[in-house]
Amino acid sequence: MRGVGHGSEAHEHKPEGIAPFRSRTVAPRCGRCALPVAMCLCDEARRIDTRTKVVVLVHRREVHKTTGTARLVPLTLARGELRAVGRPEDRVQYEGLEEAGRATLLLSPVEGAVELTRDLVGERPATLVVPDGNWRQTRRMATKEAPLARLVAVRLPDGPARRFELRKHPQAERLSTFEAIARALGILEGREVQDELERVLHLKVERTLDTRGRRKDEQ
Ligand SMILES: [Zn+2]
Repeated sequence: MRGVGHGSEAHEHKPEGIAPFRSRTVAPRCGRCALPVAMCLCDEARRIDTRTKVVVLVHRREVHKTTGTARLVPLTLARGELRAVGRPEDRVQYEGLEEAGRATLLLSPVEGAVELTRDLVGERPATLVVPDGNWRQTRRMATKEAPLARLVAVRLPDGPARRFELRKHPQAERLSTFEAIARALGILEGREVQDELERVLHLKVERTLDTRGRRKDEQ
């Protein structure tokens, strides 16, 4: 077994099931938020105690991309969890998503997905299962992995275009995973939760863009 415990740095706040962020560049990066250590936002995020549980299934190939937003989930949500998938032995990560007394929903705009509303879950707390990766990876998870394919798939109602942009996407309406989660929790939990998540996403986007020297020509 390689990976776990590999190297000597102690990362105290390792998200469950996900190896600390490994930088491909020289600037040391925070193992939790993946920003350069000097720009770490972890102390500026607080974990909100929502009723909704959020489980992000992130493709292993995406875990180490600095543009990924899934790492913000365990930083901002007391019931937020990241699980890495993509290898055959990762199938176990798809298990245990459904729990008695919870409405388990797959947040994915697959064919047949219904619009997410508060009424859809009723009085029960919800578990939102969110595939994260490129379009092909997430579609494959949502349709081919039996434990996900049998869940009720939900999509966000039509809303404003994405407000936070880390990577160019040909479909302007496509939201980052975290922005989609923020909007979904806006529906299930209330506007304040969405606002707080968007505040942290804004920090992540601004600081990531700063690391690319965006501000150079503005000074
Ligand atoms: Zn950090």
